[in-house]
Amino acid sequence: MNDDKPKGVLRIVGSKPDVSHDPPPPIARKPMRSNSELEPLAKQVAANVPLLNKFRATIGCEDQARMRDMIDEVRNYARSIDPALTHAEGATIALLLSNIDDSGSPLAEGCRKMNERLESMWREINREFFGDELKPLAEIAFAETSGSGGIGAHGKFFDKSRCIAIDEKFKFDEEAIRGGSAEETNKVELAYRVLMHEMVHQALFERGAEKPGGHGEMFLAEAQRISKQMGEEPPTPENVVRWPLHLIGAS
Ligand SMILES: [Zn+2]
Repeated sequence: MNDDKPKGVLRIVGSKPDVSHDPPPPIARKPMRSNSELEPLAKQVAANVPLLNKFRATIGCEDQARMRDMIDEVRNYARSIDPALTHAEGATIALLLSNIDDSGSPLAEGCRKMNERLESMWREINREFFGDELKPLAEIAFAETSGSGGIGAHGKFFDKSRCIAIDEKFKFDEEAIRGGSAEETNKVELAYRVLMHEMVHQALFERGAEKPGGHGEMFLAEAQRISKQMGEEPPTPENVVRWPLHLIGAS
């Protein structure tokens, strides 16, 4: 975020030769507000749940351009509340947002309902692919992570609240599975795979990775290791974001 410092360059757009070149009147610059002064505004911004969730889904991401767009979106929203907000203060708001505890978010709220089936899947994956390395989660549940109220993802690992949310669209009907529904059984497979993906984020977090939410080298290495163990075609840097759904046409 070091490119978010105020540049202090004054551009005169479309100045004509006959316009006087007297220096503009000095602008009364107020000192930049401190973090604690900006905190109440950051809280107001955080109250916009879809924005906050989108922000959280973006901060772990390695895509710098997407990250910059996200900071702009946060800044613009903050400015709609406080028009006096400067460019640099907007960047501070984004920083403060990333420090707001996620335990109060509605998604984490959904995590309060531990899903037994998902939990047993988690234990199986931990044993099978991580040698029981991962620490038990506080919660694991279905919640809306995609769609308008969500973060546009199939799942999400919340490091602060130690919770994994799997998108509700993968929520399967146990009764229908017993009745032999192929569609519901397929959802189990998809939920299992999304859970694997989130557990790699969990592993990166527990191993102290700098960007546990990202899909960089560390994530790729883990995804490739697990794919090989499963006897599947390992992901590439291009499709690892979708791993292990990269081979399945799930949308
Ligand atoms: Zn991911």
